[in-house]
Amino acid sequence: MFTDGRSRRVIFLAHCLLNQNAISDGTAEVPAAHRKILRTILDAQAGVVQMPCPELCCLGLDRGDPEGGERPVVAENTRIRRAMGRPEAAARLRELTGQVVWQIQKHGFTVLGIVGVDRSPCCGVNTTSDQDRELPGWGVFIAAIQAAIKAAGLTVPVIGVKPSAPDALERVRALLDM
Ligand code: SF4
Repeated sequence: MFTDGRSRRVIFLAHCLLNQNAISDGTAEVPAAHRKILRTILDAQAGVVQMPCPELCCLGLDRGDPEGGERPVVAENTRIRRAMGRPEAAARLRELTGQVVWQIQKHGFTVLGIVGVDRSPCCGVNTTSDQDRELPGWGVFIAAIQAAIKAAGLTVPVIGVKPSAPDALERVRALLDM
C-alpha cells in the first residue's frame, strides 16, 4: 500500500512559519513564509502539514488587544495568554488540538516531528512568554498538544525555533535526520 511516489515522511509546522499573515500585528519578520526552513524540509523530501494558528482561530487576526482598549505593545503576551484561557477560546483550542493529534494518528506515515515557535505564548516549545518576559516552558497550544499526544500513546518529537535565529535550520535539520 502507498508504494507510489510519496516519501511517507511528514512534519507538522506552526502555522505562521508558512504564513506570516496570521501573526499578530507588529511581529511578522518576513512577507510571507520562512523560506529557508521550508526549503530545508522539502529538500529532505518531507511533506509539510501546516497546523492551525491557535491565536488566529481563537482570538482573531487583530488580536493585539484581546481585552479591548488601546493596542498594547507592552502587555500583549500577558493578555494573549489570559485570553486563551477564557471558556470560548479554551474550547476552540481543544478542538484545534484534537484536529492536530487526529491528523498525526491518521497519517500513518512517519511523523518526523512538530516545529513550534519559541517565545510564543501559544506555540513556544523551549520558551514561551508571560508578563512580557520570555520564560522557559511550553506555550498553551504546545502544552495541549503534548498532553494529547501522550494520552493517545504516541511519541512525536517536538522542537521549537526562533525562525530567524542562526540555529533555526540546524534544529530543523536534526529533526529531519539530515
Ligand atoms: S506562533 Fe503560533 S499562535 Fe503565534 S502566530 Fe504563529 S502559529 Fe499563530
